Amino acid sequence: MRHINIPIFIPQFGCPHQCIFCNQKKISSQTSVPEPDEIRSTIAAYLEAAGDLRFEAEIAYFGGSFTALPQKTMEEYLETAREFLKRESVRGLRISTRPDYIDEEILVLLKTKGVTTIELGIQSFEDRVLQASGRQYGAEQAEEACRLIKNKNFRLGIQLMAGLPEDNYRYAMLTAERTAALKPDMVRIYPTLVIKETPLEALFRNHKYCPLTLAEAVDVCAGMAVIIRRENIPIIRMGLQPSEELRTEGNVAAGPFHPAFGELVEQKIFYDQARVLLRRQEKNFYKHKIWYLRVNPKDVSKMTGYKRNNITNLNEEFDINLKVKIWDGQPRNMISLDN
Ligand code: SF4
Repeated sequence: MRHINIPIFIPQFGCPHQCIFCNQKKISSQTSVPEPDEIRSTIAAYLEAAGDLRFEAEIAYFGGSFTALPQKTMEEYLETAREFLKRESVRGLRISTRPDYIDEEILVLLKTKGVTTIELGIQSFEDRVLQASGRQYGAEQAEEACRLIKNKNFRLGIQLMAGLPEDNYRYAMLTAERTAALKPDMVRIYPTLVIKETPLEALFRNHKYCPLTLAEAVDVCAGMAVIIRRENIPIIRMGLQPSEELRTEGNVAAGPFHPAFGELVEQKIFYDQARVLLRRQEKNFYKHKIWYLRVNPKDVSKMTGYKRNNITNLNEEFDINLKVKIWDGQPRNMISLDN
């Protein structure tokens, strides 16, 4: 079933601290906080364009710390969205916020106002990474916030980042393990970019922070994704939405920005999967001239990779003649080796 998000950006509104990597104004191409009337017209325009799909729509307050807003503003925003929940049968209301601004009282308020999904920007479950990134909470507090949200029967989303200061491959995998153990309903994974006019940019310019290369970021995010998907948790985004503003030269000062980052990660996951299968069969390679990687039709580009790089590299590495075989019955995201 198609899902439509009606995004309402509240760039860094409510944020009690400056996280060192964040400049929502650059990320979202929006510099001011919307007034309720503007929110109404944005929602109405989206609903009109959605036609019958409007019933699948979720209104989503993004880009700030929703539950850290002044109480009056928070209630005003919730009421504005609720008008559409009641009148237009919009399916749900989603907010994103920080784990240290979640408690029982806030959750009761969100529930009564019709919020269905809460996305927590947790970024890492390693205290030293959180501290170095100016997040001002610890991993245990983040876990507790997740439990509270799940206990109150909201849908829980967790946002993670790879490559923050003090982060490393092991911490990223531990973060993915702890995320999977919490069984959220969805996860987003972002590689850390050095956005202009952030404290991270200053660290980078002073040679005190080195971002991941694109290959490293793809590798780390692929490892995280595999761990999280083992629990059947959907990853709804990998990599930043490449807004026009973010594409403007100079807005990303450094880091692994790629407009199709998620696709690169998927291709890496398929490549690694194929390597494991091939390693297991290596002793039988001499028996057949051609070997086939069997994939679902929807996964062909993930298997072949950009400009068929995956197949070329596997052929070189294993010195065989490898081809892709498309089969409707192959489960999604899985490959088999045939001859
Ligand atoms: S990362 Fe989130 S909490 Fe931190 S400044 Fe940005 S919007 Fe606010």
